[in-house]
Amino acid sequence: MSQTDQEQKCISCGIRIAGTNAASFACPECGHEIHRCATCRKQSNLYQCPDCGFTGP
Ligand SMILES: [Zn+2]
Ligand SMILES: [Zn+2]
Repeated sequence: MSQTDQEQKCISCGIRIAGTNAASFACPECGHEIHRCATCRKQSNLYQCPDCGFTGP
C-alpha cells in the first residue's frame, strides 16, 4: 500500500478537509503540520497537536 496523498482532517472536528478552504499551519511547538476547517477557524475552536500535545487557539 502506498499513501501518496494523506488524508487531511480537521484537527478540531475531524472532518475531511480535502477540497475545502481549510487552513494548514505548522505547530508552533514542534512544527507538525496541522489542518483546520473553515468552520473551526471561524469559531476559533481549540486544537491539539497530535505530535506534542500543544493546545492553542
Ligand atoms: Zn473543523
Ligand atoms: Zn506539535
